[in-house]
Amino acid sequence: MKSTLDTTLIHGGLTTDSKTGAVNTPIYQTSTYAQSALGEHKGYEYSRTKNPTRDGIESLIAEIEGAKYGFAFASGMAAIGTVLSLLKSGDKILISDNVYGGTFRIIDKVFSNFNISYAIVDMRDSTLLESSITSDVKALLLETPANPLMSVTSLEKVAKIAKSKNILSIVDNTFMTPYLQNPLSFGIDIVVHSATKYLGGHSDLVAGLVALNNDELAQKIGFLQNSIGGVLAPFDSFLLIRGIKTLGLRMQRHCENAMEIASFLSTHKAVKKVYYPGLKTDIGYEIQNSQARGGGGMMSFELESGYDYRIFFKSTKLITLAESLGGVESLLCHPASMTHASIPKEIREKVGISDNLIRLSVGIEYAKDLINDLAQAIEKSKA
Ligand SMILES: *Cc1c(COP(=O)(O)O)cnc(C)c1O
Repeated sequence: MKSTLDTTLIHGGLTTDSKTGAVNTPIYQTSTYAQSALGEHKGYEYSRTKNPTRDGIESLIAEIEGAKYGFAFASGMAAIGTVLSLLKSGDKILISDNVYGGTFRIIDKVFSNFNISYAIVDMRDSTLLESSITSDVKALLLETPANPLMSVTSLEKVAKIAKSKNILSIVDNTFMTPYLQNPLSFGIDIVVHSATKYLGGHSDLVAGLVALNNDELAQKIGFLQNSIGGVLAPFDSFLLIRGIKTLGLRMQRHCENAMEIASFLSTHKAVKKVYYPGLKTDIGYEIQNSQARGGGGMMSFELESGYDYRIFFKSTKLITLAESLGGVESLLCHPASMTHASIPKEIREKVGISDNLIRLSVGIEYAKDLINDLAQAIEKSKA
């Protein structure tokens, strides 16, 4: 898995300051910049529009996603909201099954007020996807692997369909990160990230990123970023650059640990099903293997009846029950009541998010310690 990307994570972007030679991107904690005469400045006028520390992270995400342009936002949702603002009244967007709850919410509850409609489509089914693209559909948005059932969709197929129908394709690449998967290389138009997760990597900041190649689209997104103003602050830009330096090491360990835990869970008598695309037995394995450089650190599993998930969640000692994912520490989550609570119960059950489903963000601790913790919590949850 090691590649030149490991080097780019450390040396990419604008890591040196030409004025001082500082090895790390300095934090330019300023809102404004002196102008020497009317209309004369050094390229920076106001920090919502442009800030040198934000320039650092924006050029870095572009470089590691294989993109021409990068944009940094105050959160993943600010990034997604800004990208969706490309749509106009009367437009329709297709979203894949099981998109992040907040993404569903902003489309269902906010953009619907601006007469932008949506439909949920299982994009693994190319025929269904193609027939769902009516003349009002202007964009599609998907996650792969998708939260929380880790269902895998072919990026190449989706990109091809979107291109043939002349609509915009958007991929939320949060779960894979640019270290494991680069959607633009398959012909996807726009990549979005919640950098709060693996890219930041330490559960100590909230941030969002966008990467793309198209000049005209990038100009529109730059305009929207400045107009809406949900930009990433200088200090958080610095923290994110710092986090990304170790992304390669962390993702390698996340993948190794997840593989060990998935193997352990899949042979456990209390576990009904494991959803992890790194397992050869997983339904999405073939496609995952063809488009990503690993299974990632996210998995879900379903307890057999006879085991009480509420007791399980109370019984882990090392692994914390919390929202979010992608940090160095392992976290557990109950999708039905946490990340996917904003999705109506009927839709939730239809797509397979049962109350017995447990999502695990596998951290970079010693795998055996994690396995022991899961084993004792499962044992305690036996009714
Ligand atoms: C967390 C998350 C988001 C939202 O990002 P925030 O940084 O919390 O605003 C979007 N997509 C996915 C897949 C996420 O996990």
